[in-house]
Amino acid sequence: MKRACIIGYPVAHSRSPLIHNYWIDKYSLNGIYVKESVSHETIVDFISSLREKGYVGGNVTIPHKHVPLQIAARVEPEAQAIGAANTLWFEDGQLIAGNTDAYGFITHLDEQVPDWRADLPAVVLGAGGAARAVLYALLRRSVPEIRLLNRTREKAERLANEFGPAVQVADWQTRSGALAGCGLLVNTTSLGMAGGQALEIDLAALPSAAAVYDIVYVPLQTALLEAARARGLRTVDGLGMLLHQAVPGFARWFGVRPQVTAELHHLVAQDILRG
Ligand code: NAP
Repeated sequence: MKRACIIGYPVAHSRSPLIHNYWIDKYSLNGIYVKESVSHETIVDFISSLREKGYVGGNVTIPHKHVPLQIAARVEPEAQAIGAANTLWFEDGQLIAGNTDAYGFITHLDEQVPDWRADLPAVVLGAGGAARAVLYALLRRSVPEIRLLNRTREKAERLANEFGPAVQVADWQTRSGALAGCGLLVNTTSLGMAGGQALEIDLAALPSAAAVYDIVYVPLQTALLEAARARGLRTVDGLGMLLHQAVPGFARWFGVRPQVTAELHHLVAQDILRG
């Protein structure tokens, strides 16, 4: 039996087992995907001996996403540029570390809004781990200007230095005005999450052809997406990104490229609703 896992601390909240075990069942594979709660003290040993533990690979989540970069025999270019790895597998017995968040982000956007305007400026809110994957994905599509706004401006400045001159930093307070002339707004902050603070932004300046993408997926329909829809804008929710980022890892571990279907979306959405 092939075994894969998600490694985090804590990891109880993860929906990755639901996704991967659904696919294992759907494609009648002899496999299992489990949670591994691993603390800071033992994470290096754990990842270093993943193969000896009987795993064909796995995912890495908060707070360990930087660890594989130091241990893996090879780090894929995406993971290197993003500064974090979320997917591990073996090639010729060697540990490889990749990052599939940028793939998940852009695949879901292309699917939901195929004609989104990559030739216009985009606004990205937030400068945390997820923002790095989003910047990487948008720059790969040659978006000419990314207006990056974060509560802590220095963190946005650091990302702009790393990702290059297309990333233009502006003050968090100017976020509503920054939307003028943009083709895409992406929220990568944790604002709007269930039980947390709301994201306050006025969408009036966004052109009517723009798309609004909220990578927060609890709740599935955030207040930002509801406000965008009320204005007639196209919207993209965060759950599809989560589902699509799981595809490359599953394909490597189990040898089948799985489909992100409406049935899977419904299954995970129901789980989110249950809380
Ligand atoms: P992170 O590294 O902790 O970054 C959090 C971001 O939110 C920072 O930019 C932070 O700004 C901002 N923020 C937090 N509280 C704020 C407040 N009160 N006012 C203004 N800004 C605030 O987290 P992350 O890993 O990037 O994740 C961010 C969100 O994306 C989470 O909701 C996560 O669930 C979601 N996510 C979704 C997917 C998906 O597949 N859909 C994947 C990854 C993450 P400061 O820098 O000023 O603190």
